[in-house]
Amino acid sequence: MSTPTRSFIPYGTQWIADDDVAAVVEALRSPWMTQGPLIEAFEQAIARFCGARYAVAVANGTAALHLAALAAGFGPGDEVITSPITFVASANCILYAGARPVFADIDPMTYCLDPRAVETQLSPATKGLIPVHFAGQPCDMPALHRLAKARGLTVIEDAAHAIGARYVYEGQSHQVGSCAHSDMTVFSFHPVKHITTGEGGVVTTNDPDLYQKLLRLRSHGITRDPALMDAPEGPWYYEMQDLGFNYRITDFQCALGLKQLERLDAFLERRLQIVASYDSAFREEEELIVPHVASGRVSAYHLYVIQLRSLSRLGVFNRLREKHLGVNVHYIPVHMQPYYRRTFGFDNGDFPVAEAYYDRTITLPLYPKMSDNDVAYVIEVVRETLGELQS
Ligand SMILES: *Cc1c(COP(=O)(O)O)cnc(C)c1O
Repeated sequence: MSTPTRSFIPYGTQWIADDDVAAVVEALRSPWMTQGPLIEAFEQAIARFCGARYAVAVANGTAALHLAALAAGFGPGDEVITSPITFVASANCILYAGARPVFADIDPMTYCLDPRAVETQLSPATKGLIPVHFAGQPCDMPALHRLAKARGLTVIEDAAHAIGARYVYEGQSHQVGSCAHSDMTVFSFHPVKHITTGEGGVVTTNDPDLYQKLLRLRSHGITRDPALMDAPEGPWYYEMQDLGFNYRITDFQCALGLKQLERLDAFLERRLQIVASYDSAFREEEELIVPHVASGRVSAYHLYVIQLRSLSRLGVFNRLREKHLGVNVHYIPVHMQPYYRRTFGFDNGDFPVAEAYYDRTITLPLYPKMSDNDVAYVIEVVRETLGELQS
């Protein structure tokens, strides 16, 4: 049973192997600290994994979203639609670009942006969509893409949870990140995500113009390619063509990313194994709703979220934390954050499906390094806690 000496099991964490450490050390001993050859090697490996033509690696996932929003041309007067059930960065990137974030409610089964809800939020000012592949499950991309193309909207997938996820459309399998139904896809390499570079992120795209823009914006809007200059003056010359940022990633981070990517398939498989154990245990609990993955979709399972039918979320959450489970909540709906309420006048009840989901959800620990023993412990503690609170 739950022994008080049991160490804390976090909801997610990285898995760094000796190989990873060795690769970083080797990179640190090379002549490059920042803009070395491993960045392009990592970008190519990510592009290959996803089946996209291009990838641009940056300092973090939020920077990747920011650059994607700028490359899309979002700006003042534009509206961009995203999900309220996401990390704040998915909506903040719209604000960084000077545009207005608009939310559309989620699908009650998948917790992803509901294409029918998106339709009700469209206006003449709508310029783009940022669907979020929540918990690792791909959104209904073909439906969102259809809706976007009919109106000339730019689609940026926030796939921070979903590297390795796939979906089938018209008999063909599509890897998230291939941008088969979007203009750009963004991933994060924060340590709680599937693979890590410490901090880090990437944008994938098939569009050569977006690719060039992203490369420029990553580094101050500067180009060193004479072919892209107004008036090259000599070998020393560079031109600032746009207002960009320093969002560069370092060479030694990409050394880590390359090594981690080699283990991504194994990481994904281990996540699915743990999910199978959770599903079979928790499906039998009347009190719980387990995650539902729509047919034709394969989730990368960044998160395992359960919903409570009737017990108090606070009561269950506190009890699980007392028993050393690093449970969490993903997410407080973004429109309910004080900044969004104050700035845009959002209120409780604006997105009822998202809010009902939020009120009942708890995230359980899920990460590849979890032992079978950890998994059994989580299952035992959840069952025991539900029993205690129901009696
Ligand atoms: C983690 C995350 C981000 C931001 O990524 P960082 O690398 O932490 O900046 C954006 N969107 C979602 C959905 C995320 O989970």
